Amino acid sequence: MLGTMQDWELRVSALIDYAAREHATREIVTHWADGTRTRTNWATVRSDALKMVQALRRLDIYPGDRIATLGMNHARHLVSWFGATGAGCVLHTVNPRLFDDQLDYIINHARDRVLLYDAAFQPLVDRMKSRWPTIEHYICFDSADHAPAFEDWIGSEDGAAIWSPGEERQNCMLCYTSGTTGHPKAVLYTHRSNVLHTLATIAPACLAVEPRSCVLPIVPMFHANNWGLPWSSAATGAKMVYSQVNDPAVLCDLMTSEGVSHVGGVPTVWFSLFQHLDDAGQDMPPIKVALSGGSAVPASVVARLMRAGVRVMQAWGMTETSPIATVTWEPPEWDDMSFDEQVAYKSTQGRGICGSEVRIVSLDDNTRKLPRDGVTSGALQVRGPWTVRRYFGDNEDAVGAGQWFDTGDVATISPDGVLKLTDRTKDVIKSGGEWISSVELENAAVSHPDVLEAAAIGVSHPRWGERPILIVVKRPGSAVSQKILCEFMSSRVAKWSLPDAVEFVASIPHTGTGKISKKDLRAQYQDYRLP
Ligand code: ADP
Repeated sequence: MLGTMQDWELRVSALIDYAAREHATREIVTHWADGTRTRTNWATVRSDALKMVQALRRLDIYPGDRIATLGMNHARHLVSWFGATGAGCVLHTVNPRLFDDQLDYIINHARDRVLLYDAAFQPLVDRMKSRWPTIEHYICFDSADHAPAFEDWIGSEDGAAIWSPGEERQNCMLCYTSGTTGHPKAVLYTHRSNVLHTLATIAPACLAVEPRSCVLPIVPMFHANNWGLPWSSAATGAKMVYSQVNDPAVLCDLMTSEGVSHVGGVPTVWFSLFQHLDDAGQDMPPIKVALSGGSAVPASVVARLMRAGVRVMQAWGMTETSPIATVTWEPPEWDDMSFDEQVAYKSTQGRGICGSEVRIVSLDDNTRKLPRDGVTSGALQVRGPWTVRRYFGDNEDAVGAGQWFDTGDVATISPDGVLKLTDRTKDVIKSGGEWISSVELENAAVSHPDVLEAAAIGVSHPRWGERPILIVVKRPGSAVSQKILCEFMSSRVAKWSLPDAVEFVASIPHTGTGKISKKDLRAQYQDYRLP
């Protein structure tokens, strides 16, 4: 027999309705590329989103149609998240840092009908326009020089509309993985998956966003559902702060002057903030929570944030998991742990949150379950109501029996559930039949004070199959050498896994989402000859 509670479809429009009703005047601040700062609030974001619904209908855009955005972080981009989804359309956030061929592929694959873009990407739009036949309407977020301006476009509407009704399992957002490991793949979130992810992640033991929070997502809005931060902020009425530019000086100023409590960023963001603070001789702004994800955050970064009184919440996840799946929530014994133990724990990928289940299986057959003993490493799998089942456009599910999704990561899980990523299946280095973790080598290298960034890759070796080499960006003026670095690393990793060569370079290539691009590095060092 079915229960008799009210049946409400879980739609993201309910989140903005709530924010506008209970937190109407809570602000959304934007620092624009031209240096100006503007303010709106949740009530206005809602009415602007309703105006966008009307404007879309006027263009004969229907529920299910895809609306693409090519924009950095700002309030108009936020409005478009609620406007597109409120019209029953699918919001497709496009990563402008992708290569032309990838941009060509994903826009055509998604069959986007409308593109909203920042004026800064006008050259990109001009270059790609002829390759995007499905796009019928271009709207510019900033100016009206080449396309209707967003403010003018929605400005002629009155907002007296209602959200398109629909079911919770209908699609809502489209996000392509940035392609660290190959062709971009399309993850199509549903209203339901986004709402459930939101309800789980706002909890105190997760992102801990609440009405007094002030959230600054430095992670771009086109990266992995923006970690769900627009939805979580609406669901709690948190204040939001956005910057259209990624300048650490601007970001630090915003943190202090706007009272930012929560900052979300990938590890490179923390590096550049620290660099700026050191250069300027400033202290860390008084933020409360640092959300870090996307790649492993080094213990040195965790320690520095914690010393400044910041609660570090490292999360693990991926575009395919909406993205939050595990978080370093503090265990009951937290207060009895030493500072070093706390730092070590916060440097792991954390533990499962309710609604997201992880396990490791054998790397050989991808099905045999491995023990949670903290030592055995295996292929990491995940499942739950906000994990992908099938990529958009595919004919087959991306999950195996029991709906387990193969993440492509390699990890250990301790008996009490602590997840530690040891590598990606494509990045582990196989030397003489043994697996060497590239991540372990990188962590050991960046612990050296003169190493700014390090990447380990395997290069072919006649005897061992593969041997690791390390590519390093050192602190300017430092005298660190291969010998010094390997000696330093030898107390942290097994001697046989030390790199055979260390290459010092000016910079390491990154992907569109700021991660080290192993794909590019492997191509660059394809013919590398070990000394
Ligand atoms: P991609 O980088 O493949 O385009 P995502 O941005 O979705 O896609 O990244 C997901 C991957 O990022 C994960 O599979 C994992 O390898 C890595 N990752 C995410 N969070 C963390 C973390 N906290 N520590 C280490 N690696 C992480």
